[in-house]
Amino acid sequence: MQKLAIFGGTFDPVHWGHLLIAKMALTQLHLEQIIWIPSKNPPHKQAALFEHRVAMLDIATKNNPAFTVSLIERECSGTSYSINTLIDLSAFYPNTHWYWIIGLDAFQTLPRWYRGYELAQMCDWLIAPRQVGGETIAQTESICNQVEKKFREKSHTINWQLLHTPLVRVSSSIIRELCRQGCSIDDLVPKSVGLYIATHNLYTHNSE
Ligand code: ATP
Repeated sequence: MQKLAIFGGTFDPVHWGHLLIAKMALTQLHLEQIIWIPSKNPPHKQAALFEHRVAMLDIATKNNPAFTVSLIERECSGTSYSINTLIDLSAFYPNTHWYWIIGLDAFQTLPRWYRGYELAQMCDWLIAPRQVGGETIAQTESICNQVEKKFREKSHTINWQLLHTPLVRVSSSIIRELCRQGCSIDDLVPKSVGLYIATHNLYTHNSE
């Protein structure tokens, strides 16, 4: 059975935090592929054009043969739900053990996702520590245990493990804010992504 991971997100834009987590997951779990899935219409966010987000992901991932960017959500006309994406991918990649890469902040919200309890059991969850409030990496595990408890209380199981990544304090929102203020984002995104953002004048008041 092959081992594949999904890495879903808005990627608005993709940044070094995403890339570091993905690389660590590849090595730690000996994964064959990571399938990056930019969400077309994220239920909870307003995002830049899908085409721009995909273009930046393509640029950022093109040098790693184990990274694939999936456009599976492109045809989705309404809200895109993760469970539907995983069901569709499972039909496309049979004989697969699925993992889902996710930051701690997003993992905490999993019980509230559309059919989150079902989705939780369809793959193993790889959690990247992330600053949520003031907690340290040591507290990450106890937060994950609390999430697991919510699933067990409803008689559902969930398999998760922590990725051995340091806390990386970069976020797409910080990058967008820095762009709005006209500040440098050089250390937060790959050079080629920074160039794309500048060329297309993204995240400024006059954005496309
Ligand atoms: P925004 O700031 O707009 O909310 P984001 O930086 O969280 O964006 P997303 O594309 O929404 O980026 O994130 C995709 C996934 O990557 C989510 O599971 C998120 O928790 C995780 N993630 C993003 N940045 C980090 C980071 N620095 N450390 C750990 N996980 C992260």
